[in-house]
Amino acid sequence: MTVRIDNPLLSEIMRCIHYARPKLHIPSPFYNRIEKNGNFVSVWFLTSGCQWNTHSGCTMCNYGQGVVCNEEEIVDAVRKGLSAINVKVKRLLVSPSGSMLDPQEVPPNARRRIYSLIRNFPSVEFAFETRAETITNELVQEITRSIPGKQLSIQMGLESSNAWIQRFCINKGSHPNQFADAAQILTTYRIKVYANISIGTAFLNPQEAINDAVSSVQWAISNGADVCMLFPMHVKSYTLLFWLYQNGFYRPPSLWSLVEVLRLLDPKMQRRTKIAWYRNYYEDMIPKLENDEDSNIIASPTTCPKCQERVLELLDAYCYCGEPCVIDDLHTMQCECKDVWKQKLGDVSLYSLPERVLRIYKEIASSFLSDAWWSGYGAELEEELLNSYSAE
Ligand code: SF4
Ligand SMILES: [Zn+2]
Repeated sequence: MTVRIDNPLLSEIMRCIHYARPKLHIPSPFYNRIEKNGNFVSVWFLTSGCQWNTHSGCTMCNYGQGVVCNEEEIVDAVRKGLSAINVKVKRLLVSPSGSMLDPQEVPPNARRRIYSLIRNFPSVEFAFETRAETITNELVQEITRSIPGKQLSIQMGLESSNAWIQRFCINKGSHPNQFADAAQILTTYRIKVYANISIGTAFLNPQEAINDAVSSVQWAISNGADVCMLFPMHVKSYTLLFWLYQNGFYRPPSLWSLVEVLRLLDPKMQRRTKIAWYRNYYEDMIPKLENDEDSNIIASPTTCPKCQERVLELLDAYCYCGEPCVIDDLHTMQCECKDVWKQKLGDVSLYSLPERVLRIYKEIASSFLSDAWWSGYGAELEEELLNSYSAE
């Protein structure tokens, strides 16, 4: 049986949203971020951008409309990024805002020259991001041949292990099985597999978002992931998430939900789960869009002004040391906003998830598309959406 991953409505809507997106105004073709005193350093370099995002894109993602860069420009950006690092590095991530192994984003020659730069850079580990479907035996052999002697790791955006959520809530353009296949290849070559997992996916209520993140970590680890990275969602301009937020259908997850996901994982899984982007680093990172007002992060995961600083300090501590006792401290911490969050988790939705998604789809379609679109494609989409739903 063919597994369907396409979502004609979300793809069309993402194209509409991106149509109005201004080009990035680029102050620098690379961006470096140093965390944990050099234990983790990332170098992001500019490319034409994620090819999936160029043609359609995930509902929460806006890395901006990139610019076409040639081989020389890409390699030069990475070289400059690496030479700007002035700390001793343990784990080095060098990645485009998209997929290192997509030849449309990083031309093969540029990729090989980047590997040469990395090979000579003194870090213990080297990592990059790429979509699962770009991973092949040949490309993985090329990495291991080009960069001997370093621990290699590759991060893939799984977001959710639920194929229905990937298709109807995220518009991921891939299937979780592709993650599992890629992980199997990487494991064969002893490359560490990182799974990026979302908390706060579009359309999910807070309890569903927690459940989805927990089951995605469990699934990812059983299907070849060595490490899971939890990403609580931020609302960015030019995304469907932003439209949902503006229209009262979405709120970013509370940081208490992030704590809850970690708490619910058994100790073995928790040890292999890390957290990322629980702070808003975007302000100093994302290259500005031409219209500066549009480049801001609209809303971020948070708690309340009374406890936020303490919560972030503890999350920093967890991020740094990974000690389960930090999660216990967060779990036992009291605040009024935590009571409100808990209460919301207990709210019973009037409609099931597929029914809710369908109702919001109709709102989205009527806001972006002509009536003819729903008349032509709506019935088939509705049938698939309702009939293919599975909570697993
Ligand atoms: S989340 Fe990843 S795959 Fe999806 S559009 Fe963004 S960069 Fe591309
Ligand atoms: Zn609070």
